[in-house]
Amino acid sequence: MFSPALVGHQDLRERLRARVQAGRIRGSLLFAGPEGLGKRRVALELAQRELCFRRSACGQCEGCRLFQGEDLPFELPNLLRIAPEGKAGVIRIDQVREGLDSAGQARFSRGVIEWASLAPPPGCHRWILLEEAHRLNEASANLLLKTLEEPPAGAHFILVTHRPEALLPTLRSRCERIPFLPLSEAEVWEVARRHGWTEADRPRWAALAEGSLRFLEPEAFRRAEAQVEAWLALLAGVPFAEAAGPLLPEKEAALAQGEQLRQPLELLLRLLADLARVRAGRPPALAPWAAALSGLAAGGRDFRPAQEAALEALRHLPRNLAAEPLLREVALALGRA
Ligand SMILES: [Zn+2]
Repeated sequence: MFSPALVGHQDLRERLRARVQAGRIRGSLLFAGPEGLGKRRVALELAQRELCFRRSACGQCEGCRLFQGEDLPFELPNLLRIAPEGKAGVIRIDQVREGLDSAGQARFSRGVIEWASLAPPPGCHRWILLEEAHRLNEASANLLLKTLEEPPAGAHFILVTHRPEALLPTLRSRCERIPFLPLSEAEVWEVARRHGWTEADRPRWAALAEGSLRFLEPEAFRRAEAQVEAWLALLAGVPFAEAAGPLLPEKEAALAQGEQLRQPLELLLRLLADLARVRAGRPPALAPWAAALSGLAAGGRDFRPAQEAALEALRHLPRNLAAEPLLREVALALGRA
C-alpha cells in the first residue's frame, strides 16, 4: 500500500519501485513537470519505503512517521534533502560542499558529495534530493557535475524541478528524465476536499489548478483568481491603475519580485490561449470565465502582440527587473490589441 498522503502517479510510482527493487535505476534522475504535482513526494516515497517497517511506505509505522508532518528532516539515514535557502533563494555552493545552512551552521553531518560516497544503511540506498533544482547556482551545479555523471554505488541523486529548461544543460544531460503529467481532476479534487475545499469552489479551483495541487492554500487560490479577474479587466479596457493591483508583487514576500510575476504572466498566457480557443469555436479551459472570454473574443482584436509581450516579460524575469514597469509594458500591449 502507498502512503495515503500521496495521490496519483500510480503507474509511475509502481515502475520506479520495480526498478529500484531490480537494481535498474540510474544514479541521477530528473523529476520534471508542472508545479504542484507531488514530484517531491514521489521522490521521498522511495526513501520512505526503505525506512518503513513494512517496506511499503505504509504511512502508519515509526519509520514512516519520519516523513510526515510539516518539518521534514533535512537528513535521515538514507536521505539528504537540499533546498534553496536564504533571501536569494538559491542552492549555494557551501550548502553542497560543506552541508551548511544559510546561517553558516552545519545542516548535514558532512558535505553532500562525501555523504553520497558512504556505504548506505543495510537494505537502503542513499537518496540525495535536490528540491527546486533549477535554483542551483552555477558554482553548485558545476561542483555536482562529476558526481552526477557517475554517482557512488548505492547513491541516487534526484533533481526535482518544474523548470527543467532553467537547469544547466550539462546537468540535465547527466540525468535520466522522469516526466510527471498533471493529475486527473478527480485526483486533485480528492486532495482539495480533504483540505476543506467545498463543491461550490470546485469549478474555479479545478480550472485554475490544471491537475496540480499548487492552490491548496486558500490564499494562493484567491490570489490566482484575483489575477485572472485583473487581466480580464485590463483586457476589457479598465485602466492599469484601477485593475492591476492583484498582479503586482508583494513587497514582504520571500520570493524575489521578478519571480512573483511568473504566475500572473502565465495566467495571462492561459487566458490568451483560451481566447484563441473560443474563436476557434471550442470551449475555454478556464470554463468558469467563459462569459467574459466570449465577450472579449467577439471583437476583431489581434491578441498576438499581447502574447508576445507576455512571453518577452517572462524571458526577462530572471534578471529581476522592477516589476511594475514590466507589467505596464504588457498591459500596454493588451490595450493596443
Ligand atoms: Zn511504514
